[in-house]
Amino acid sequence: MNYAVGIDIGGTFIKAAIVQSNGSIVIKRSIPTQSGDPVDIVFSRIYELILQLLDQTKIDMGRVVGVGIGIPGIVDFATGIAYDVPNLGWKNISVIAPLQERMPVPIYLDNDANVASLGEMWVGAAKGSRDVFCVTLGTGVGGGVIVDGRPLRGSHLLSGEIGHIVVMEDGFECRCGNKGCLETVASATGVRRLALHAIERHEETILDLDHLDAEAIFAAASQGDAVASNVIDQAVDVLGRGLGIMANLIDPEMIIVGGGMAAAGDALLEPLRTSFKKYTLRSLGDRIRIVPAVLGNDAGVVGAAKLSFDQVILI
Ligand SMILES: [Zn+2]
Repeated sequence: MNYAVGIDIGGTFIKAAIVQSNGSIVIKRSIPTQSGDPVDIVFSRIYELILQLLDQTKIDMGRVVGVGIGIPGIVDFATGIAYDVPNLGWKNISVIAPLQERMPVPIYLDNDANVASLGEMWVGAAKGSRDVFCVTLGTGVGGGVIVDGRPLRGSHLLSGEIGHIVVMEDGFECRCGNKGCLETVASATGVRRLALHAIERHEETILDLDHLDAEAIFAAASQGDAVASNVIDQAVDVLGRGLGIMANLIDPEMIIVGGGMAAAGDALLEPLRTSFKKYTLRSLGDRIRIVPAVLGNDAGVVGAAKLSFDQVILI
């Protein structure tokens, strides 16, 4: 049995796991990190974390085919450089070289959306599929495109950026600098903003300013609150349009919906399927399934490990 290490570097935690070649996790652990931590310290922590996991499972380094790392930003799989990682304050950081000095195994990196998509394709919601689009609905809206079993990275490392499709002329300002991007409406932040504006207009609602998040908005909608229902309708309409564009372009077998807002389940997915069909080529709209992600927080470490296994198979 061969093993790979999967690392998922986030804004608040670094997660690590040893993963078998069949995709099952042998052991996993996470440690806190924060923006501004010196890069050298972060790499030392990752290295120590890997050693701890190997030691605890009595797995020899010689049976590890590689270490895959998912990073939340613009990273170059080919060069091992993280160009821009806003959550960690990293710019033009060489990730592979300093770890490679300590570890005698190949190291690979990719962005977090790509590795999470790989994980879902390998052993998650899209197991057995080769062409998949994964959308993550969190603070923003991220996307990962898998074509023929491999992440589509793009010439500028920015493929799959569904969150920044402009859907509203002169809409809300987006963190990317543009206006009216999909994620200004269809993310957890977006639905909160829409609800906030309705409350400021004194529309009648049971929504409470002190507890205004996606979960509360879906709960209010399920109780018949018109403001909450209207907010969800707007978000779902915009998201369906964005997914329709992606579907027409890449013709995936299925679309996987993950991230915090996906916890709403069918209350989100059922209207989303209807909206999606409205905006998608008719012969595709009925055939592309929209399904929830199933790996949750493990998608990143599992997909990062898959990154290593894939390279071994290539060699
Ligand atoms: Zn944007």
